[in-house]
Amino acid sequence: MDLSPATRAVALGRPERTPGAPVNPPVTLTSTYLAGAPVNYARVSNPTWEALEEVLGALEGGHALAYASGMGAIAAVVSLVPVGGVVVVPRHAYNGTTALLAERAAAGALTVRTVEADDVAAIVAAAAGADLLLLETPTNPMMEVTDVPAVLAGLSREDRRPVVAVDNTFATPVAQRPLEWGVDVVVHSATKYLAGHSDVLLGAAVVAPERADLLERLHTHRTLHGAIPGPMEAWLVLRGVRTLHVRLERASATAALLAERLTAHPAVERVRYPRFGAMLAVEVAGGADAAEAVCALVGVWTHSTSLGGVESQLERRRRHPLEVRSVPENLVRLSVGIEDAEDLWADLEQALRSAG
Ligand SMILES: *Cc1c(COP(=O)(O)O)cnc(C)c1O
Repeated sequence: MDLSPATRAVALGRPERTPGAPVNPPVTLTSTYLAGAPVNYARVSNPTWEALEEVLGALEGGHALAYASGMGAIAAVVSLVPVGGVVVVPRHAYNGTTALLAERAAAGALTVRTVEADDVAAIVAAAAGADLLLLETPTNPMMEVTDVPAVLAGLSREDRRPVVAVDNTFATPVAQRPLEWGVDVVVHSATKYLAGHSDVLLGAAVVAPERADLLERLHTHRTLHGAIPGPMEAWLVLRGVRTLHVRLERASATAALLAERLTAHPAVERVRYPRFGAMLAVEVAGGADAAEAVCALVGVWTHSTSLGGVESQLERRRRHPLEVRSVPENLVRLSVGIEDAEDLWADLEQALRSAG
């Protein structure tokens, strides 16, 4: 039967249906396995990761590898670049990604070409001769969207195309499945919407079925570099993914409503909302101080970094010294959770009114 993604998120990654079997996979706490099988040590694999990898792979349409964090997965993908190679990345990619690439570039390991996420022609031009195109759409926190199919169409006219990766953390496979467009690998901070409860860090790389070569290299890299998740963390993310579709359905509907009302609010200069998913950003009238005041004045929203939890979160991104300088000082990123939409609006509205 061809099951829909929402059903697969619930049905896969379970123990075999035999009488008396548990309904959920156990948290397998072991460092080693009895000899005689291909997997003999727990840095190579673990049954609890495998249950999660089965579900994430099915949702994205590829083969998943779980990592200790989103950055663990991104660093693994960057490791695919040969020494002296070229990486193309959007200017407003996640600041950990841009900082990692800057660190690698400073070490002489690679060269970075920075592009605007919404400029397809510039991305295709920069990708000529590059080894890795590390896209992120929408970008964190500027919410720019890349027309990935148009980029791939442009690349198909080149002799040698780079490995194309997409960070799908913001959209989640509920909103977009980049492997279906022809991307080679999708990366996730599963810490965010996939886990969904702000209680765990975990990352994933999901490799296109036809790129067994990349899967093999990434698996070897994970085993040798050791950025592996704990089994309890994998179990928590799997538990979170079971409700991904209902959480996103609710949060996305609320995000659309908030975007519409914020656009009409006099204390808001600009709303950045891609019309899908549950993330948005606003530029608050009155600069950095007013933006900070909004974050301090909310009571239902949580003033904290990170995103994707059941609780709505917000923060002024430029409070982080590592944030890219072209992100406006007055930009507040909003991660919409699953609380009542009117409660979220009322809280945000009173903060915007008092901050001005
Ligand atoms: C948070 C985040 C990451 C990093 O993930 P961690 O799990 O914190 O290591 C990568 N990309 C995006 C878009 C993120 O939001």
